[in-house]
Amino acid sequence: MPENLSAKLEKFLPPPVLALIKIAGKEAANMGQELYIVGGVVRDLFLARINYDFDLVIEGDAVSLAKKLAGDTGAKLTVHERFGTAKLIYPEFSLDLATARSETYSRPGALPSVKPGSLKDDLIRRDFSINAMALHVNPKQYGQLVDLYGGQKDIEHRLIRILHSKSFIDDATRILRAIRYEWRLGFRLEAETKKLLRRDAAMLDTISGDRLRHELELILKEPEPERSIGRAGKLGVLKHLHQSLKGNDNLVEAFRKARQLTKSSPPSIYLCLLIYGLTEKENEELISRLNFPKTSAQAMRQTLQLKKQLHKLDNPRLKSSDIYRLLQGYSPPAIYANVAASKSPIVIKHLNLYLDKLRYVKLLLNGSDLLKMGIPSGPKVGQVLDTLLKAKLNGEVRTRKDEEELVSHFR
Ligand code: ATP
Ligand code: MG
Repeated sequence: MPENLSAKLEKFLPPPVLALIKIAGKEAANMGQELYIVGGVVRDLFLARINYDFDLVIEGDAVSLAKKLAGDTGAKLTVHERFGTAKLIYPEFSLDLATARSETYSRPGALPSVKPGSLKDDLIRRDFSINAMALHVNPKQYGQLVDLYGGQKDIEHRLIRILHSKSFIDDATRILRAIRYEWRLGFRLEAETKKLLRRDAAMLDTISGDRLRHELELILKEPEPERSIGRAGKLGVLKHLHQSLKGNDNLVEAFRKARQLTKSSPPSIYLCLLIYGLTEKENEELISRLNFPKTSAQAMRQTLQLKKQLHKLDNPRLKSSDIYRLLQGYSPPAIYANVAASKSPIVIKHLNLYLDKLRYVKLLLNGSDLLKMGIPSGPKVGQVLDTLLKAKLNGEVRTRKDEEELVSHFR
């Protein structure tokens, strides 16, 4: 008798999602088709984790079912006819529906060719046994587990296992996914999977920059990404992103510090820390290999530029206006990364002063106020504004009256 998870479904899925899934199961049964919940949600039911990625697979026609459900329940609908997939969007959640499919890879790392298939076909194309389980949702078999590759056993033993020995060759992004899941879930790579992962690490070279970057970004969004990065270093994976990348102890310490510094954007700071030991040339190679977008590339470049300038900040006699002049124009992640990586207390103090205070300092007067006060239009206006800002940064003027008083000396 296959295991039935209906009690877990009731316990862990939000009631509106559950209600919708039941309606979907009935509709599928009316169409004479089988509908399943698949992937991460099933895995996370066993682990008592909440997952809001609701993926359904139908042996049949996902688009027709989605259209029918959207009509019945008033959802917003997006459809990809070509892939046989659809998304139902509700105010609090969304639900992905896909037609069960089989995939073949024309060459390693290529996107697969896809055609409709059975649930079994759909599960064998997946990354790991723990992600390749499904639950029936048609009324008669509601909640019944389909576990063709020992996913449940692997969850019990806390193992990440690929489904066949060519898996990493077909799609080497699975190498990075495996490392991410290990730390996220507190699992280990199953021994054969680990061996194949090491063997096939070079297949990462077949993956497009965009896909590699996406996987790296997912790792950097995890709560303690230094663990996965360190692991990727030890397994010989990191060097396939760039030969000179290292996941060593310095990195561990710097990532931890970065988390304490700010809550707002650790992933962008982690990225800057990851490249901290690269030369500018190596950094450029990584930027182009992973096709980083402008903002990230700029933060990465500025990190290394600022690193070269840090010695200028290592002087206890600097005035606030000097610190401002040295740091103006650098993006916050580049500066935060240098705080996390620097060992000099004076440098760190100056960088923090800029981040916490100086970068927010604003004058109360502007150019047109100065004109009204009798400063002649032209370069003089800019010069006076500079002088005012310097004075304000150094605490020599505070109020609007102070600013006006200082301007009066330039008339
Ligand atoms: P997460 O909590 O990280 O979102 P998830 O299991 O939902 O975990 P997704 O990246 O959302 O992961 O993918 C959904 C499902 O699609 C996975 O559970 C897995 O079965 C399958 N999948 C995703 N990426 C791959 C891949 N590269 N190769 C094979 N199967 C994949
Ligand atoms: Mg997901």
